[in-house]
Amino acid sequence: MRYYQLTPITDRTATTARWSITGKRRWGLPGTECPRCEAGGSTIGLIYPSVDLSPLPEEREYRKARVVSWDEYVRLRDAVLPLMPPGAVVKPGAAMGPLVGHVRGHPPLVAMDLRHLYVQPEGAERLLAAGLRGIKPEPTSLKVGRHVAPILELEVLVGGDYAPECRPEKLGDPCPVCGTQRRGLTPYSWWLDSAGLPDTDLFRFRPRPGYIVASERFVDVLHSLGDTGIQATTIAPPAPHNAGAPS
Ligand SMILES: [Zn+2]
Repeated sequence: MRYYQLTPITDRTATTARWSITGKRRWGLPGTECPRCEAGGSTIGLIYPSVDLSPLPEEREYRKARVVSWDEYVRLRDAVLPLMPPGAVVKPGAAMGPLVGHVRGHPPLVAMDLRHLYVQPEGAERLLAAGLRGIKPEPTSLKVGRHVAPILELEVLVGGDYAPECRPEKLGDPCPVCGTQRRGLTPYSWWLDSAGLPDTDLFRFRPRPGYIVASERFVDVLHSLGDTGIQATTIAPPAPHNAGAPS
């Protein structure tokens, strides 16, 4: 099975899709810094639209993006853990709940902006009817124009890893406080560990959750929908060296 990285096409001459979303996630974990190893900041792309924090008494504390002390972060993180989907990666900056805002224009049946995948109900049906695994359409609080179908967001869980031959080397042991494993340089060219693929046709790449990876089966359905404004770039190891071929 081939795998592809999905990215939105930004060249306006290469797609007829014209739409945009202005929105804000309802809840999120704050940023922080580990007092032991100083790892911190926020991880981009850990997004869980299905998670509802409204039952938490401290729900309001998750509404504003901010940076807090490590202890404060741990308290807020531990309170949300029981609400997260199985296998969720939870780090500073993880975002939860529906997107609140509005949609301009007419998004395609399956649409993508920098870090999110959206579907109209018909797009979700097409993906599910094809038997694709890991398709989780979640409601949004995005207002759409008249005569525009409601828009849902796909919850894309984290999975996969670099193949061993391009995996950045571990530097020292994981931090005993926050668990961060320092690593060497990220490879410019990378491909997937075929032994560690998740059982799904769509996932966020564990080392870089901002990257969305789709199987060939997913991309086939995507292409059957016409111009979605989404580009699928093959993720593959370099071709084996062919002795005698012209260099
Ligand atoms: Zn640490």
